[in-house]
Amino acid sequence: MTHQFPALTPEQKKALSDIAQRIVAPGKGILAADESVGTMGNRLQRIKVENTEENRRAFREILFSSDASINQSIGGVIFFHETLYQKDSSGKPFPEVIKDKGIVVGIKLDKGTAPLAGTNGEITIQGLDGLAERCAQYKKDGADFGKWRAVLKITDTTPSTLAIQENANTLARYASICQQHGLVPIVEPEVLPDGDHDLQRCQYVTEKVLAAVYKALNDHHVYLEGTLLKPNMVTAGHSCPKKYTPEEVAMATVTALHRTVPAAVPGICFLSGGQSEEEASLNLSAINQCPLPKPWKLTFSYGRALQASALAAWVGKPENKKATQEAFCKRAQINGLASKGQYIVSGKSDAAAKQSLFTASYTY
Ligand code: 13P
Repeated sequence: MTHQFPALTPEQKKALSDIAQRIVAPGKGILAADESVGTMGNRLQRIKVENTEENRRAFREILFSSDASINQSIGGVIFFHETLYQKDSSGKPFPEVIKDKGIVVGIKLDKGTAPLAGTNGEITIQGLDGLAERCAQYKKDGADFGKWRAVLKITDTTPSTLAIQENANTLARYASICQQHGLVPIVEPEVLPDGDHDLQRCQYVTEKVLAAVYKALNDHHVYLEGTLLKPNMVTAGHSCPKKYTPEEVAMATVTALHRTVPAAVPGICFLSGGQSEEEASLNLSAINQCPLPKPWKLTFSYGRALQASALAAWVGKPENKKATQEAFCKRAQINGLASKGQYIVSGKSDAAAKQSLFTASYTY
């Protein structure tokens, strides 16, 4: 009964697979600049900058107007709705600024969390209603991929089977709708780093979650070659007293992925999840050096770990534009190297890059 009711034409499949391949071309990853207004407010508060639409625009203009050579390490940029319709100081829409550099434009499609009653504080994600219409509009407005972030928590009683199943199914439904409208879905089931669990527990939970996600994607006839996965790295909980080396994190992460993610998936783009900039880069490089089979590209889709030192350099002052762009380009280049397993610490990496970017129960 295969192909009795094909979900996509060969042309649609090719277009999706081409987009996914462009985003994760060798040495490239994703800039996740899709912080919601509230999350961006938290980031700006840290540098004592007011959370106005203009300040959010101004910071993103600085990132997006970095030298075109940024396209050597950034293959895609994820936008938040507001940003997709903003312009640079010369009046050029941001999506055009990004596309002109040969970088693919993406859009955050989930609409925040809702509680799952009868669970220990677990959540699901909203945004399926009207998603088809929004995808069609965003495609017209320049987007070629989407993102949907589901969140699972590790405690003694979670994640529950309900939370795993509900989030896997929602991600699959989202992915199917995206593909129908020509958007490559980034499938993001994040297992949060909150807690004192060890590396093994995170690996166990990550495997359960990813196995459920790929079963649901198959059930929904999602074309895997036209998707990207955005998982957490397998790390110990933020408050775990035991610390693990990048090699241990890499082995646990690639083992979990190897057991659960089909080889048809072109790329796995990790979130940084509150790791410091430096940690996120070193772990990514170790993951790419891991001696297990790795049939997918293993790269980054970082928010905090690509922007923290840029925000600190900017502090809301236009005269800091150059320093801000230098900080951003430096992290982008380092992560580009890490995605090829070629980043080794030079010895004098700055203290700021080692600061934890952990946000407790970071949900939206
Ligand atoms: P972090 O890299 O800051 O975890 O964010 C990535 C992201 O887009 C989460 O959805």
